Amino acid sequence: MQADRSEELTEEEIGIIMDVIATDGYYKQAMIVKVVCPVCFEEFLGTKRHAGGFISGHRAYHEFDDNSNILKEEA
Ligand SMILES: [Zn+2]
Repeated sequence: MQADRSEELTEEEIGIIMDVIATDGYYKQAMIVKVVCPVCFEEFLGTKRHAGGFISGHRAYHEFDDNSNILKEEA
């Protein structure tokens, strides 16, 4: 079984370009980036592809969370 390379990234690898074998495919010449959610400050380290998923996932989650807060306040 091939290990997911993204599970062993460290901060020292930010900005470097590498080939990444992930569960969803093989990323050639992928740059490792670090992104921080502006809402909850959770950090993510990985390829841009996965960082995009992290960002949109958090955006969707926090929008949902905001909406559920509004619903609670109105109830
Ligand atoms: Zn977040």
